[in-house]
Amino acid sequence: MQLVIVGNGPGGVELAKRLAGEFNVTVVEKENIPHYSKPLLSHHIAGFISEEKLFPYSREWYEERGINLLLGTEAKLVDRLRKVLVTDKGEIPYDALVIATGARARELEVPGKEHILTLRTLNDAKLIKERLEEEGEITILGGGFIALELAGNLAKAGYTVRLVHRGRTLLGLDRDLSERIRVELEGAGVEFHLETNALGADEEGLKTDRGYIKGRLKVCAFGIVPNRELALKSGIHAGRGILIDDRFRTSARDVYAIGDCAEHGGVVGGTAKAAVGQAKVLANLLRGADDRYDFSFRSAFFKFADFGVAIIGKTKGPGSWLGEDTKVFYEGESPVGAVVLGNVKKAFRLEKAIKEGLPID
Ligand SMILES: Cc1cc2nc3c(=O)[nH]c(=O)nc-3n(C[C@H](O)[C@H](O)[C@H](O)COP(=O)(O)OP(=O)(O)OC[C@H]3O[C@@H](n4cnc5c(N)ncnc54)[C@H](O)[C@@H]3O)c2cc1C
Repeated sequence: MQLVIVGNGPGGVELAKRLAGEFNVTVVEKENIPHYSKPLLSHHIAGFISEEKLFPYSREWYEERGINLLLGTEAKLVDRLRKVLVTDKGEIPYDALVIATGARARELEVPGKEHILTLRTLNDAKLIKERLEEEGEITILGGGFIALELAGNLAKAGYTVRLVHRGRTLLGLDRDLSERIRVELEGAGVEFHLETNALGADEEGLKTDRGYIKGRLKVCAFGIVPNRELALKSGIHAGRGILIDDRFRTSARDVYAIGDCAEHGGVVGGTAKAAVGQAKVLANLLRGADDRYDFSFRSAFFKFADFGVAIIGKTKGPGSWLGEDTKVFYEGESPVGAVVLGNVKKAFRLEKAIKEGLPID
């Protein structure tokens, strides 16, 4: 069985790892570097970890498992009739093809946007690191987990950090929770500008509806744009991302999609945790086993500076505090979500309990 995976991010590499030895696995990756950890990029920019620590798998790791890794190779088209992936370096026949092309960073569409960097790849991180070391300060746009991770780590490293976010709350959470996170990060040195809309940028700063914020280095760290172009060019259906069913099947026979590039039930993934979880289930499905990924249940664990935050399941609507650091959300009598602040160790137990409908103590 020839399994061809497009994309060497966490989704692609997890699938390759799981099926190597059982299938003939080829991974096609347009970047000319081995797999690296995106969640660790802000730690590297802050100077907490060396570049080599970003790379968990060497080339030998792939060779030892018999995975055919084609770096610097861009997938251009899926020839569905001939079951061939067309790349800029030649054609690769497949029995099953998995698109795991991820996403790119969203750009802020304002005049002067060329003065605002984005963060997604190692090259982006290198550029930000170089500029940060020159400037000693940074303005970060966004109120999601990438912005908060970056802000927390850079403040902890001693840089001057401003965070500009148009929303009222952080991470889409309620005011209570958002305030707790803001206070922690403010304590670490982050200067917050909430409910502030960026209107434009120049070399020296950012124009907003609340005045001009000075700062030469600006990084937009909100939102993703799923890489769906390969699918679209190949006549595979896509909305915001590549449309998949409960078994990761796209509209083309024997073509699947996982991770940040895929859309299920109107929702696009967005975390490494989801990409890896989906790869595990798809591996079982491709082996012929019966398995399901629960798209309705999402959870993610983060660390902003030294402050842990776990977001589990549904966290909208009224919630009640369970102790000082855990807020639980209910539908009727049933707990459907929770947010754990600070020490997130107990979050794993809570995640299991909520998912399986067990009592919460
Ligand atoms: C700074 C930062 C911090 C983050 N922190 C966290 C965190 O703390 N926790 C968490 O869970 N998630 C985090 N994420 C999100 C996480 O990294 C992504 O959700 C995850 O990488 C998605 O995995 P993926 O395999 O779907 O795609 P990606 O990691 O985007 O990988 C897709 C790969 O496909 C390649 N590709 C694209 N098109 C083609 C083509 N046509 N041909 C060949 N190759 C192609 C790309 O070059 C890329 O290497 C973070 C992301 C960033 C940027």
